[in-house]
Amino acid sequence: MEDLLKLPFFTDDQRSFARELDVNARQHQWPDPEKGDDAVALLEALRALGKSGVLRHAVHEPWSMLTNVLAREVLAYHSGIADLAWAMQALGAVPLLIAGSDAQRAILDRAANGECCLGFAITEPDAGSDLSRISLRAEKVGDGYVLNGEKHLVSNVGVANYFALFARTSDDKRGISCFLLDTRLPGMTFEQQRPISPHPLGRINFKDVKLPADALVGNEGDGMGVALGTLGRMRTTVAAAANGFARRALDEAIKHAKSRQMFGKTLADQPIAQGILAEAKARLDTSRLLTYRAAWEYDNGSERIPLQAGVAKWQSTENAQWIIDKALQLAGGVGALHGSVFERLYREIRPLRIYEGASEVQQLVIASEMLKETT
Ligand SMILES: Cc1cc2nc3c(=O)[nH]c(=O)nc-3n(C[C@H](O)[C@H](O)[C@H](O)COP(=O)(O)OP(=O)(O)OC[C@H]3O[C@@H](n4cnc5c(N)ncnc54)[C@H](O)[C@@H]3O)c2cc1C
Repeated sequence: MEDLLKLPFFTDDQRSFARELDVNARQHQWPDPEKGDDAVALLEALRALGKSGVLRHAVHEPWSMLTNVLAREVLAYHSGIADLAWAMQALGAVPLLIAGSDAQRAILDRAANGECCLGFAITEPDAGSDLSRISLRAEKVGDGYVLNGEKHLVSNVGVANYFALFARTSDDKRGISCFLLDTRLPGMTFEQQRPISPHPLGRINFKDVKLPADALVGNEGDGMGVALGTLGRMRTTVAAAANGFARRALDEAIKHAKSRQMFGKTLADQPIAQGILAEAKARLDTSRLLTYRAAWEYDNGSERIPLQAGVAKWQSTENAQWIIDKALQLAGGVGALHGSVFERLYREIRPLRIYEGASEVQQLVIASEMLKETT
């Protein structure tokens, strides 16, 4: 990571933070969700991150995007479950940073220590990319609300203590509201769904779940703004996670190619393999530079964040998929065996091109922002 860390995007403090995190994450024995209970692995990773202090950057203001992209790139390089634990704390916390009350934000100190696990529940079977289709109902009854409906594909189901939950409080366009959901409330059933790369994920069914009035985050009808603000902030960090996975794949591919003997030389001596490694390096540097640019723009208060973050997420996730696929190809048959680092990364990267705005959604955002700029 050193080559690009020297660039003037970063302060000396950020460089030291990334180096120290890298050393610690390399030495740490991260739990492997493939070899046991994914919920146990997630909580173990969360506690380790809490102890290390890295989560406070994800759940407290001031939110430095440069610090946070460095954190995610480093964590994803070393462990997918550590990256997920970081990401879900941030996704659960940012709605509270945007619109939460002081009482709601009180949970964030425990979230920073890894003692309280967060999540973000917005997707429904009939509402994914098009969030205006959300139908989980939050009916105003007395001082509070009653929830009926369903969420699915929600990370940290069965593990999180609180979710930032998005539900419909009226049928009009501004009818989505955000709530801080305490998962101990009666009336919820949780059902596991198995993603391509194991982590706790599932459905939540709501049957007459009674929410107190103080669960509302911000005002009724603010929910879509809170959701889009959160996803907008997280987008650059998803790019960073993709870059961490891709950088790991390229490092492993180089190591393998230099040691693998064939045709009287090493694989790394074969011109076609060199071409693949060269393209992987160019794609990785492009992705990292786009991500650092988007983070720098965010930290410097630019108005071009949706455009730059969209470019960074789209390109970094697509490039990472390409790089990891080619790395696995260079590793040959053993790369395709369960348990190889290439096979793990191959599955780990796939959802990043879909969640928090699929690649096609990023293309729409980029085009719309660009066309606005040029009118
Ligand atoms: C591992 C994993 C973890 C997740 N974690 C969470 C979570 O914690 N919380 C949560 O709420 N959700 C979560 N999700 C859900 C995720 O956010 C949704 O899957 C995503 O938003 C896409 O919605 P969808 O699956 O309904 O696909 P759809 O909205 O049905 O889209 C399907 C495909 O259509 C294409 N598409 C979309 N829009 C356009 C367009 N305008 N033009 C052309 N093509 C388009 C894209 O290729 C997209 O992949 C997770 C998903 C996965 C896989």
